[in-house]
Amino acid sequence: MDSLATPSATKEILDQFGFSIKKRYGQNFLIDENIVRKIVKLSGVSKNDVVLEIGPGIGTMTQVLSLEASKVVSVEIDRKLMDVLSYTLQDRQNVTIINEDILKCDLEELSGTYNNGGPFKVVANLPYYITTPIIMSLLENNSYLNNMLIDSITVMIQKEVADRINAKPGTKDYGALSLAIEYYTKPSVLMNVPASVFIPRPNVDSAVIGLEILKEPPVKVKNEKKLFTLIKAAFSQRRKTFVNSVSGVLNIDKNLLRECLSDIKKDHDIRGEELSLKDFASISERI
Ligand code: SAM
Repeated sequence: MDSLATPSATKEILDQFGFSIKKRYGQNFLIDENIVRKIVKLSGVSKNDVVLEIGPGIGTMTQVLSLEASKVVSVEIDRKLMDVLSYTLQDRQNVTIINEDILKCDLEELSGTYNNGGPFKVVANLPYYITTPIIMSLLENNSYLNNMLIDSITVMIQKEVADRINAKPGTKDYGALSLAIEYYTKPSVLMNVPASVFIPRPNVDSAVIGLEILKEPPVKVKNEKKLFTLIKAAFSQRRKTFVNSVSGVLNIDKNLLRECLSDIKKDHDIRGEELSLKDFASISERI
């Protein structure tokens, strides 16, 4: 099948299948061949890699990925796209389509079934309504202590979210996602993308980011789950102090939390957003 990355080829497929684009699933399909090729190139995918694609849509980027990767596993939530994808990818033997919500997928199981337990390269034009939960769950499912399931993440997201990937403590953009990115990856903004290369046009600008998984974490902890449970509790009520927020959510004694803060020479009324990854790691080791 010819490239789907043109306005006419995309419209033809949508008409042929009587498919109505769903805003609620963040469906903005790419219609620019150059951009699609560039994203795949930036991902560094080669024949040694198994790709996990999130939201293939009508299969536009999947077509290009299938040429570069050894295998592509694409997870698409919209059941109505299954017939479309069987048609558009009929000549691609190395593509598997899974009709599922990516947030409900067991990454370890996917890796076991399709990649002999090895790590995926994730490449996607993400649905913008769930950018943060998707990146968070891709990262959190990794463990330096047990198994790394992801090698790298190359994804198109909203530009405003891309601009926040390097947020530092004390800024309003700093949160659980910034800390997960810092703990697991070396992040970079790879390119900006105009709204004109999608059907329909999104009403925000876009950017492609690259998150390269680090070989070693920047801080060492014995229990990564505990670290991120603590971080999420600290940011769950941003206006509260660290002690009040964490003691409320995790039912931890306030005096213990105050002692942890004293150990790292922080005021007892500090907020979570002022603590660094190193601070969180030290507190998580003590509680
Ligand atoms: N990759 C296609 C492209 O670039 O043209 C489509 C990208 S579109 C921005 C996002 C895709 O993600 C849509 O096909 C949408 O149905 C799918 N999607 C939305 N929520 C999802 C979820 N929770 N799990 C898997 N796919 C999802």
